[in-house]
Amino acid sequence: MGSKEICALCDEKVKVLFYPMKEWGIDGVLCGDCYSKKLHEYYPGDHIRVNKDLD
Ligand SMILES: [Zn+2]
Repeated sequence: MGSKEICALCDEKVKVLFYPMKEWGIDGVLCGDCYSKKLHEYYPGDHIRVNKDLD
């Protein structure tokens, strides 16, 4: 379908789109899980968090 709703990292269909930061060098969108992982890679700590578990 030419959908962009596929996670650029894990190839899963994404319901809620997360847009990667420019400095991550990712072309496309991310799912919540991959977005969270990237956030922790680039910004270690708990001040930024995607609370997917609370959905
Ligand atoms: Zn993903």
